[in-house]
Amino acid sequence: MRVLGIETSCDETGVAIYCTREGLLAHAVHSQVALHARYGGVVPELASRDHVRKLAPMINGVLADAGLDRRQLDGVAYTRGPGLVGALLVGAGVARSLAWGLDIPALGVHHMEAHLLAPMLEARKPAYPFVALLVSGGHTMLVLVAGLGRYRLLGQSVDDAAGEAFDKTAKLLQLPYPGGPALERLARDGDPTRFRFPRPMTDRPGLDLSFSGLKTYTRNTVLREGDDAAADIARAFQDAVVDTLAIKCRRALEQTGVKGLVVSGGVGANRALRERLGEVAAQAGAETYYPRFELCTDNGAMVAHAGALRLEAGEQSGPAFDVVARWPLETLEPPVAA
Ligand code: ATP
Ligand code: MG
Ligand code: FE
Repeated sequence: MRVLGIETSCDETGVAIYCTREGLLAHAVHSQVALHARYGGVVPELASRDHVRKLAPMINGVLADAGLDRRQLDGVAYTRGPGLVGALLVGAGVARSLAWGLDIPALGVHHMEAHLLAPMLEARKPAYPFVALLVSGGHTMLVLVAGLGRYRLLGQSVDDAAGEAFDKTAKLLQLPYPGGPALERLARDGDPTRFRFPRPMTDRPGLDLSFSGLKTYTRNTVLREGDDAAADIARAFQDAVVDTLAIKCRRALEQTGVKGLVVSGGVGANRALRERLGEVAAQAGAETYYPRFELCTDNGAMVAHAGALRLEAGEQSGPAFDVVARWPLETLEPPVAA
């Protein structure tokens, strides 16, 4: 089954074609980073308008890359939520119209389910059950995954997401938006022994996380130490985030006894985090699984893939479509044939 996937939940336009027999056939991502950079964050209306401009040519582009005619598609998957409503509506509208015109099924996909299943796009795939650490710009959660649509939330951030903390800290350090990759680069030159930042919520049991206090701690350090400490501060901040996530992942593996740890979402591209989680998993006799770097952040491949798994099981959305800004992952269910 060949499925076109469309991602427009935020500031990336992602389009891809995934085949359930042959794997990923083509994918393209257009990042709006330059468009929003001077505002220091995503401007929703600008995001929607840019998706309108980019989607149709990008769909034609991936069809050409895959050597396919649109009539060779068997389904269309689009991100239904969570995300920016205006941006989501652009993808949903295009996806539904295309599916209607081609008389093929369409399905609205959960953005975090798509992130969570993205490591399955790789040759080395995780097997169920596994623990998933979802670390992105808007979410930080630990989920026990028993199968497609069978998700139990083990813990989550009670305030800021890890990616959001990276972005805000980067802004404090006057790094360009989005801050995660820039902060990681700066931290490489930092002295790991100069500062030690707190590891929030690691001294009490449970798998919930918190990153807003760490951000405040970082701000106070920046104000006290001045600009020449930037690399050391970046290093201390990153070490604290990585250490906190590692402690919680170790606990989640111990608590569930599963042998697979899946890491997905933009912060999963962080090399220090990958290295540390590799050690944690090895100590627990478990293995880590990641999407390739470019599929950690938002992309159409993960949407095409998650949609294809559900469409192939017979699930589809009705012709009337809706999008949702908020949509808890735990409310998802295994696919139900229409
Ligand atoms: P969500 O998926 O929760 O809706 P999102 O789609 O905005 O949020 P992603 O695209 O998955 O999030 O990831 C973007 C986030 O990942 C940003 O906060 C960015 O700073 C962070 N990020 C990307 N690369 C790195 C890195 N190398 N180190 C740390 N953080 C990173
Ligand atoms: Mg983004
Ligand atoms: Fe995302």
